Amino acid sequence: MATILYQDQFIDREQAKVDIEDRGYQFGDGIYEAMMVYSGQIFLLEPHMKRLERSARELSLTLPYSVAHITENIKKLIEINQLKDGVVYFQITRGAAPRQHFFPDHVSSVITGSVSNHTRDLSKRPKGIKASLAEDIRWLRCDIKTLNLLGNVLAKQKAHVEGSGEAILHRGNTVTEGSSSNAFIVKNGQLITHPADHFILNGITRLFVLDLAKQLGIPFVEREFTVDELVNADEVFITGTSNEVNPVLQIEQQVVADGEQGPVTKKLIKAFDAEVERIRTVSLS
Ligand code: PMP
Repeated sequence: MATILYQDQFIDREQAKVDIEDRGYQFGDGIYEAMMVYSGQIFLLEPHMKRLERSARELSLTLPYSVAHITENIKKLIEINQLKDGVVYFQITRGAAPRQHFFPDHVSSVITGSVSNHTRDLSKRPKGIKASLAEDIRWLRCDIKTLNLLGNVLAKQKAHVEGSGEAILHRGNTVTEGSSSNAFIVKNGQLITHPADHFILNGITRLFVLDLAKQLGIPFVEREFTVDELVNADEVFITGTSNEVNPVLQIEQQVVADGEQGPVTKKLIKAFDAEVERIRTVSLS
């Protein structure tokens, strides 16, 4: 049976109960993080925790425990569930209080966490995905990783019914990001992605890929680009914790370039895979 984290305790999934007046449940008043685990090791732990602290600060939400203690509990959760490869997800809400919109005076934030198995089988990895387009109807603080995901959910649902793996969002003509990923294009060998401002979540994978690009000598620029530039790009891919680097081979009815993985995308995937393998060997030593 799966064990989950509830505050400072490790309990059976079936025993976990959420208060009906929890503000996460009533308002989406909370924050979250999801991290990959490879061979039992958390990938990019530090930047994820830094982003969690930032999200909490931006919402004046008090973390229930220190980041060091939360990290320790998340590692324990992985250990207890004997997770090798998968995702660890955790969220922190402002806590339970009689329903009123403004922050209650006396409230204790609530943390819950769980893991899920995802075997990383490279031989079964699809070559890429088809993406749909969706108007970005979300609020103007997309930089905060909050539980309020209805705009993202509606866009992903549109993609799902259209048989696409992701919805790429645009505000008018400007592409922002994916519904649960960041979007990149390649034009004439240059990598282009939306700047990290209030219109996108600054993905940890996005930052990692920009770092890889730097190491590989791939030129990149963080600037806005249009839907027209997207569909006419040489290469398109999305990044995200569980997506890693995922090529987009078709957008709506239009095939991207020749419909194959492009050379820049391939280089980044190779470098990403090498990093995962490096972590696996570290965990063995
Ligand atoms: N943008 C949005 C809207 C997301 O939900 C996610 C995934 N959490 C990302 C980008 C990618 O972020 P990360 O690489 O940190 O998973």
